[in-house]
Amino acid sequence: MKRTIASKLPDVGTTIFTVMSQLAADTGAINLSQGFPSFDPPQKLRDDIKHHLDNGANQYAPMMGVPALRSAIAEKTTRLHRRSIDMDREVTVCCGATEGLFCAIQAIVRAGDEVIVFDPAYDSYEPAVTLAGGVTRHLPLSISADGYDFSIDWQALADAVNPRTRLIVVNFPHNPTGAILRDADLDRLADIVRDTDCYLLSDEVYEHIVFDEEPHCSLLAHDELWERTMVISSFGKTFHATGWKIGYCIAPVYLSDEFRKVHQFATFAISTPVQHGIADFLQSDAAFYQQLPAFYQEKRDFFCSLLKDSRFRLRPARSTFFQIVDYSDISNELDLDLAKRWTIDNGVASIPLSVFCEQAFTGTRLRFCFAKDNATLEAAAEKLRDL
Ligand code: PMP
Ligand code: GLN
Repeated sequence: MKRTIASKLPDVGTTIFTVMSQLAADTGAINLSQGFPSFDPPQKLRDDIKHHLDNGANQYAPMMGVPALRSAIAEKTTRLHRRSIDMDREVTVCCGATEGLFCAIQAIVRAGDEVIVFDPAYDSYEPAVTLAGGVTRHLPLSISADGYDFSIDWQALADAVNPRTRLIVVNFPHNPTGAILRDADLDRLADIVRDTDCYLLSDEVYEHIVFDEEPHCSLLAHDELWERTMVISSFGKTFHATGWKIGYCIAPVYLSDEFRKVHQFATFAISTPVQHGIADFLQSDAAFYQQLPAFYQEKRDFFCSLLKDSRFRLRPARSTFFQIVDYSDISNELDLDLAKRWTIDNGVASIPLSVFCEQAFTGTRLRFCFAKDNATLEAAAEKLRDL
């Protein structure tokens, strides 16, 4: 008899990032789908890690992360957001943002709780909520009249929050749209959650990739929000090292305590030499992440200029290393079908936006990753200009 199992995630298939990267690999297409740089982490950082690899940092790290790294994270956070952080009780190093988000959700969400996410929503949030027994409520981001700006509809959020709402997940700088939050937005959010029991999970993995001289407004920096917020970040984005899977959670003590109860049994601890190497590099080379906006802004501008004579419509991204394009002048095919067809037939892989949405509202848009060397961007743009 063929065995079957009743799935705990019956509606979940294979993540779009795996689907599109696999399709790109199978067809030899240029892969601008899954977000990863085509360049290496800085040499000094790699040397720092090698040093620790060769000098005994090869056994379990402390469950919450090595002190040197937690100290560097706390110091950076205080410098950037003027919030004093207790490195021993409020910082936990985790296995990339993915593990951090998962643990935060398991720690907070109980059976029957509602969790609000904003579509297009990064694809790891909802399965984590489902596994915790919660129910995900999707609120679409509003789209501006010109079609380029995505933002939270504050009235819709205020209307959606109810006594069952346990958690609101926000992700700014936003993947995939590049939308950002400003200080006034944080105040609006504070107004809405003020008299509720609802917590906030802030996915800030693109904290250091915001363009056009705009600041990154972290929820950490807001006195009222901070009291109920877990902030998750990732060194994968900051150091061109998505393959290292190392990130962190910063949260007030009472939330960090709950986070750690889950984290200690999800992974226990993270690669020891990588933690020490990043600690050294953060202390000695802050200039690296300080120049990241300029570095990626140049890539963004280069990619957008290459698409100038294409039939795509776009407005340069405000943040992240993703560019959204509107293909309505070329095709009215569904974005998922088109992303696959253009990978196979035209040799460039992208990410369709509809997979991040409960309801079809993002329309004829695709996401391209521009964290690539210029030759790759040029080769991709040449194919895209033919469409
Ligand atoms: N959240 C968002 C919005 C992301 O874009 C990503 C990865 N690109 C993650 C979380 C996961 O980060 P990590 O690779 O560190 O697990
Ligand atoms: N976050 C990356 C992206 O948006 C992908 C991460 C993954 O593949 N899980 O492309």
